[in-house]
Amino acid sequence: MGDPGATIVWDPRFVDYDFGGDHPFSEASRALAVRLLERSLGRPGAPLAEWVRTVEPADRSLLRRFHSTPYLEFVERAGSYGDRLYLDQGDTPAFAGCYEAAARLVAGAERALERTLATRRPAFHPAGGLHHAHPGRASGFCIFNDLAVAAASALERGLRVAYLDIDAHHGDGVMYGFYEDGRLLDIDVHQDGRTLFPGTGFPKEIGRGDGAGAKVNLPLPPTSGDDALLSLLRRVVPPLLDDFRPDLIVAQHGVDGHWGDPLARLQYTPAAYAQVDRWLVEWSRTFCDGRLLVTGGGGYRPESVGRVLARTGWILLDPAGTPPDAEPLPDEWRVDFFETAGSDAPPTWAEPATTIPSRWRPEHGDRLVDELEAALGRKFRRP
Ligand SMILES: [Zn+2]
Repeated sequence: MGDPGATIVWDPRFVDYDFGGDHPFSEASRALAVRLLERSLGRPGAPLAEWVRTVEPADRSLLRRFHSTPYLEFVERAGSYGDRLYLDQGDTPAFAGCYEAAARLVAGAERALERTLATRRPAFHPAGGLHHAHPGRASGFCIFNDLAVAAASALERGLRVAYLDIDAHHGDGVMYGFYEDGRLLDIDVHQDGRTLFPGTGFPKEIGRGDGAGAKVNLPLPPTSGDDALLSLLRRVVPPLLDDFRPDLIVAQHGVDGHWGDPLARLQYTPAAYAQVDRWLVEWSRTFCDGRLLVTGGGGYRPESVGRVLARTGWILLDPAGTPPDAEPLPDEWRVDFFETAGSDAPPTWAEPATTIPSRWRPEHGDRLVDELEAALGRKFRRP
């Protein structure tokens, strides 16, 4: 047995972050991903993981690295009232214990940060990725912003942070939270804000003051698909990282861009996610000595989230050897899926995508890169 290939942070109490009823966001889907990964790692020849399984809620001083004290006090009071009020304009309800549950997710990101800094191998926090929360308010199912706290924590250590966000929604909490900070490079590819919450993340938004030029937005039209995602990332991310010289990459790995997701329309397939995951490992080795923190994020179709994030975990452990698409999933996990999600489990790791024809053409990418080049005042050569 060699060294573990990566650290995975999963405390079963992460599922206490639960808005109840038929609210679309549920850590139960991430729990399914973790249990599929655990089962798959049990077989001969599977890579070795380091697990962090006990995570206590973040304390005030850690949360204050990004959030305001009045907001922290508001969430704490709201949690003691139970589920009778919303923390924002109607997407993010309070629930009993919501302060502790959200603070535990933040602590998960901090633990993952500590591990990747210590080991120089990837650290994966599938329950995290709550990129919409702002310093003084909740938004879009996100109470506290675990990514922003971990990023602030890395900056406090004197590190330069490259943040990459592939969630279908723009990561507005992180981008505006560090909008004037040039020590955080923010690259965000998402469904066009004119067609999806939160309605932000345009190429013209490049940061301000010291942060000018360090915020990079790639909005994609609905139906875009894998070619759009992969061709743009391949063209812009390596040169940006090369110029910026990060000490750490932080990636928000939402899965709501997956085909069939009920909230977004980007139509990515599992193959695209696997390619991005391999690139994350490669880029972290090339540009920042292997330091890589990956969180989960959005994702509202349990069949997609459960399988994609399990495979992400595997790729972070061992980029070379992942289960093939056609391989059947373990029966015990399929029973678990049925009991958790209330619908039949998928039979294999991935099936052919059910999508409508993509309207994306290579010239759309050229036009988007032109806009980005004009905003940032630099060129991106074709790879
Ligand atoms: Zn999302």
